[in-house]
Amino acid sequence: MAKRVLSNATILEGEELELTRGYLVVRDGLIEKISEGSPSGRAIDLKRGFILPPFVNAHTHVADSVSKELYLGLVQPQVVGPGGEKFRALGSRSRGELIASVRVTLQDMLCTGTLSHCDFREGGAEGVELLRGASHKAVKSIIMGRPFALEELNIVLKKSDGIGLPSLEAFDEEGLRSISKQTKRAKKLLSVHVAELTSARDEVERALELSPSFIVHATHANEEDFVSLQRNNVPVVFCPRANSLLGVGVPPIHLALAVNARFCFGTDNAMVCQPNIFEELSFAWACLRRADAAAGSEEARKLLRAATIEPQKLFNLPWGPVEEGGSATFMVLTPGNNLANLTNVHAGLVNRARADNIRAIYARGKIL
Ligand SMILES: [Zn+2]
Repeated sequence: MAKRVLSNATILEGEELELTRGYLVVRDGLIEKISEGSPSGRAIDLKRGFILPPFVNAHTHVADSVSKELYLGLVQPQVVGPGGEKFRALGSRSRGELIASVRVTLQDMLCTGTLSHCDFREGGAEGVELLRGASHKAVKSIIMGRPFALEELNIVLKKSDGIGLPSLEAFDEEGLRSISKQTKRAKKLLSVHVAELTSARDEVERALELSPSFIVHATHANEEDFVSLQRNNVPVVFCPRANSLLGVGVPPIHLALAVNARFCFGTDNAMVCQPNIFEELSFAWACLRRADAAAGSEEARKLLRAATIEPQKLFNLPWGPVEEGGSATFMVLTPGNNLANLTNVHAGLVNRARADNIRAIYARGKIL
């Protein structure tokens, strides 16, 4: 069967994205071999390019792309809060317009190296179906539905991959407990926006009582919260650009790193910013360095893991790290004009890599 050898590359290998300078052999959709040095025989010269796992965007609202920059002149609750501008915009567009805008947004995600995203889809069971109907053959949508009322929970659970709650105020305590119980019973994901605003006291603690699969934001979580998240093994999805553009602050990534809490990255509302993980990483890196100027190579490596390995595991996606015997699903970056002369690969990629560095994206050995 078709064999392809990619040489002269820096490979970010395994779960820890360790660097191997050498070549990689793809055969029958799998990675047959990764080795240092040069291969014998024919090979594609990547000219000091990079091979790394594809991105996974752990938090989006892609249908919001139907109307962009609606946040201008408004504060966060006026944009995305109950009855906010976002819902007015979504409600005023036809199903066809929403599907068309989701499709181009998913295509933009593919063009920026993302092969899966986890979306909080509003609008009950119908909202879930809308996103399913707009699905992209190369970008897997994990859809978290939002029931209008408890009576709709079962049907939303049946149609979705889980439940994504807008806040802990969306239902009363009893309602939240019932959602948690039934979501667990259905073996689906459960998540909620938590501590996005400064007023969010005890939100992490309250969220953890629901045994969520992960929480989103934690922008105003404190060190104690991150210790609890780490103890409960509940990952956080940080959305630094959306938080900043909505004026609610920046997430304390340094606190998650300090206590070894698990985290991923998401781009949140497509109304606010494009679901581009290259940009999210570079912005997150600047936020982290602002909070902790000692952040270096090790922290950069963890940021890259948060956009690749961590969400791949969280959502149990059908590929894995770049490793021998694994699925040949990865991204190939060319150094271009911006990635030459990196003295540190992890920090250089996090800070400088862009979508125009993508030379190819492989999925199960085939170039997309
Ligand atoms: Zn969100």
